[in-house]
Amino acid sequence: MSDDGPSYGFDTLQIHAGARPDPATGARQTPIYQTTAYVFRDADHAAALFNLQEVGYIYSRLTNPTVAVLQERIATLEGGVGAVCCSSGHAAQIMALFPLMAPGRNVVVSTRLYGGTVTQFSHTIRRFGWAAKFVDFDDLDAIRAAIDEDTRAIFCESIANPGGYITDLDAVAGVAGEAGLPLIVDNTSATPWLCRPVEHGAALVVHSTTKYLTGNGTVTGGAVVDSGTFDWSASGKFPSLSEPEPAYHGLKFHETFGPLAYTFHGIAVGLRDLGMTMNPQAAHYTLLGIETLSLRMERHVRNAEKIARWLENDPRVEHVTYAGLPSSPYHERMKRICPRGAGALFTFAIRGGYEACVRFVDALELFSHVANLGDTRSLIIHSASTTHRQLTPEQQEAAGAAPDVVRVSIGIEDPDDLIADLDQALARATA
Ligand SMILES: *Cc1c(COP(=O)(O)O)cnc(C)c1O
Repeated sequence: MSDDGPSYGFDTLQIHAGARPDPATGARQTPIYQTTAYVFRDADHAAALFNLQEVGYIYSRLTNPTVAVLQERIATLEGGVGAVCCSSGHAAQIMALFPLMAPGRNVVVSTRLYGGTVTQFSHTIRRFGWAAKFVDFDDLDAIRAAIDEDTRAIFCESIANPGGYITDLDAVAGVAGEAGLPLIVDNTSATPWLCRPVEHGAALVVHSTTKYLTGNGTVTGGAVVDSGTFDWSASGKFPSLSEPEPAYHGLKFHETFGPLAYTFHGIAVGLRDLGMTMNPQAAHYTLLGIETLSLRMERHVRNAEKIARWLENDPRVEHVTYAGLPSSPYHERMKRICPRGAGALFTFAIRGGYEACVRFVDALELFSHVANLGDTRSLIIHSASTTHRQLTPEQQEAAGAAPDVVRVSIGIEDPDDLIADLDQALARATA
């Protein structure tokens, strides 16, 4: 596909963006460039590459042709100018914050986040001298109050994992804009087919490509997408991007690369020095998955809506938390933020509490009991006895992981088979 071609639709871009027939062989599918290094044409070529005067391949910790195709594909689908792929979603979150933060700085984050992110932000980032301030993102004044002189970013998820919550991205982006701060949105649960955070004011978008983008449960990966719209020089708060970068012989990234400053910094400094690189095999599996993203998401959503409705009407089920149901307090917001649907991840409570949930999970035959989501296969987890085991019942409740709640990631199997499996397991759990 040529870079200045017509603007294609999503279904076309998910197959073609970033890819062209291999110049050496004509290979139509993107080859796996399983190589560590790339031969320089001559000494001048090598110098130009190292000076970032010419874009090309040096060493696969920084750039690799297979990974580069995936980066361009994800950036295109999200409506960004560039992307940096990483070894996992958690790596992408560190990579996203890295150019913005310094010891003593903080990020204001939503309380409604993936459990692993809560741990990463509450404990691990403190080792770098960074801090996260957790706030209810439905309370815009609380976000404003949490922002101080040392705040460098605002972070939330579009569709928050797991509790059927949708963030009002337009409103939160407004608060970030008032404060001159970049909004970072984790768009893992929604994918760009359901929600494009850049169109709602996000400066950066992060992904765990482990989930729906790959879609087949084969590899971990992550991505940071740069909208190219944030002015890194306006406030003086982002010296890594606006001032001479000592880790890159004094280069001023924003002045030199304009809207691509953040992307170039992510590769030339972030990947170079943190080394959280995606390998070309992982990029290959994710490229295969992305080709069918819209087809899968459409089916994921249709199945999830059907199953959530069935569960809501079942007397053995206490309640269902899914923004795709008209009964959800977030249903109206869904129509604005992700009008094609609320994703395929939701929780429901079973009458009979903790014991019934444990029996239910064990009785399921088609659903797999795993700590993952976004697979073609339907998955389930009882958070209170697994991922949230160490929390008190009050903390479990606040995290949307009460003892009587299970979380499902609805796959793309025949929905009637999934309902039959849920039906027999509910019968055995509540007998
Ligand atoms: C899984 C997940 C992550 C972490 O991604 P990994 O690839 O497992 O490191 C972050 N955010 C969300 C919303 C996730 O679902």
